[in-house]
Amino acid sequence: MPPTKEIIFKGIAASPGVVIGKTFLFDREEDVVIERKITKAEIPMEIMRLEEALIKTRKEILQIQKKIAKGMGAEHAEIFNAHLMVVEDRALIEEVIKHLEKDRKSVEFIFQQTAQKYAKIFDSMEDEYLKERASDVQDVGRRILHNLIGRKRQDLSTLKEEVVVIAYDISPSDTALMHKEKVVGFSTDVGGRTSHTAILARSLGIPAVVGLHDVSREIRGGMKVVVDGNRGLLILNPTKSTLKKYGEERTRIEILEERLTHLKDLPAETTDGYRITLAANIEMPEDTPSVLYHGAKGVGLYRTEFFYMNRSDLPSEEEHFQAYKKVAEQIKNESVIIRTLDLGGDKFLSHLQVPKEMNPFLGWRAIRFCLERLDIFKVQLRAILRASAYGDLKIMFPMISGVGEVRRAKEIVEEVREELRKEKIPFDEDIEVGAMIEIPSAAMIADLLAKEVDFFSIGTNDLIQYALAVDRVNEKIAYLYEPTHPAVIRLIRNTVQAAHKEGLWVGMCGEMASDPASVLILLGMELDELSVSSALIPEIKKVIRSVSFKEVQQLSKDVFNYATAEEVQQKAMELLERVAPELVVK
Ligand code: PEP
Ligand code: MG
Repeated sequence: MPPTKEIIFKGIAASPGVVIGKTFLFDREEDVVIERKITKAEIPMEIMRLEEALIKTRKEILQIQKKIAKGMGAEHAEIFNAHLMVVEDRALIEEVIKHLEKDRKSVEFIFQQTAQKYAKIFDSMEDEYLKERASDVQDVGRRILHNLIGRKRQDLSTLKEEVVVIAYDISPSDTALMHKEKVVGFSTDVGGRTSHTAILARSLGIPAVVGLHDVSREIRGGMKVVVDGNRGLLILNPTKSTLKKYGEERTRIEILEERLTHLKDLPAETTDGYRITLAANIEMPEDTPSVLYHGAKGVGLYRTEFFYMNRSDLPSEEEHFQAYKKVAEQIKNESVIIRTLDLGGDKFLSHLQVPKEMNPFLGWRAIRFCLERLDIFKVQLRAILRASAYGDLKIMFPMISGVGEVRRAKEIVEEVREELRKEKIPFDEDIEVGAMIEIPSAAMIADLLAKEVDFFSIGTNDLIQYALAVDRVNEKIAYLYEPTHPAVIRLIRNTVQAAHKEGLWVGMCGEMASDPASVLILLGMELDELSVSSALIPEIKKVIRSVSFKEVQQLSKDVFNYATAEEVQQKAMELLERVAPELVVK
């Protein structure tokens, strides 16, 4: 029996926004294939059916690929090359034929068994890339099976009414075909903030919660839910008061959005004229129109991991170059900070033969990886430098833990610059190079690091997890993940002061910069730049424009002596309530 009481499921906030809607349970039905005996004479016919199903499936995949390439860019369509490889996998087909002859069962039955066996083998592999292939085999296998038995696959492109899609996972092909106007939100059992589904949800602007474990088993179609993409909640059977609360929040968001649109061209400036830079975080070139639309001053963090995801080869220098050039040209007069590859941790798996580690967040990742795999690092650096001739680009290194890493990384940049000079390829000779401050050791030695780089950007997502020893994707200990913890506040203050002493500017590109109450403290600590998701720019600008520098300076002075995260948070909330009550999420 499906539950009838209100249940709140906590997942990972994947895409912001709030929506109330009816559930559409996607693709949870298992394919039941009856075991049917066949005669020897029927075998050629069954093989023919298999060949026809394969041809049809191949056509379908090519069509989806085309549609995606047109709508979302060629790099998204690449994912389907792996799907095509499954259809064309002779070993799989031979095995089906072998069993047809041996077992004399219908082709759909044999095929389903063989595909499941294949998927299991991939799934049990150590290598993360091969492990990923299991989901390709499952996805394509179901497609082939549906074509064999003539069952129409559930399709998100033909939805008739607005729904919240609830699924175990939503494959790239399903997301791409989704009828955008009808899907108002979605939630999935699996996935992290940087999973494919999450990234696509953000670029489609649909509120989404992922990583909800086995929620899709508890829900039936047609049930009422609230998707709270801001807090990472899925609320099933919301009570009247929950509905009222979220109804009000939606109205508040809509009115606010409407009211905030006029801020687009106004500076991020306090009531007494203290100005900072309010920039946007992006993940791919397709995000730039939103940066411009929301009036961000440039890009404070361009996460380049997306390039390396869901593909079986490495991006070429030309691909990198075209992407960075496009962003540089579109952003025109503002700067774009390109972060070099930050692979590892929760980011994504790779086909790069990265060994499995006990503690991936503390492991061979980001700059550590790049400094060993110079072949990969240099390709990206060459492309960034080449693209710097077309706009104001900056280079930023992730996961810096000490001075040695910065020096080594800068040496590599210099080697690449020298190569380009020799090849007479133009680039910006004055390109700024910065370090992310996201490891406590870096924040502690910010004075030493400040002598090595041109700017800092504080990555609080990681800084908090390392400072407090709280895994940022573990929902069990999420209550300990406190941005306003006095240790975090001190690390930030130390970083800002050290940077300013050395004449460096310092920004923040972690999620803390998009929390209105925290923004007041950060302003008071004199950060020079805040970089947040484009959609949140108006709200954060409103916070900044509602308060005086005097007030925030006093706030940050006060909270510095507080003993707990709650006290710091409460003090900041008091000021927020006073200066911008409409932004307080209760
Ligand atoms: C951070 O750690 O705060 C950050 C901005 O980087 P990411 O979330 O990509 O690790
Ligand atoms: Mg980080």
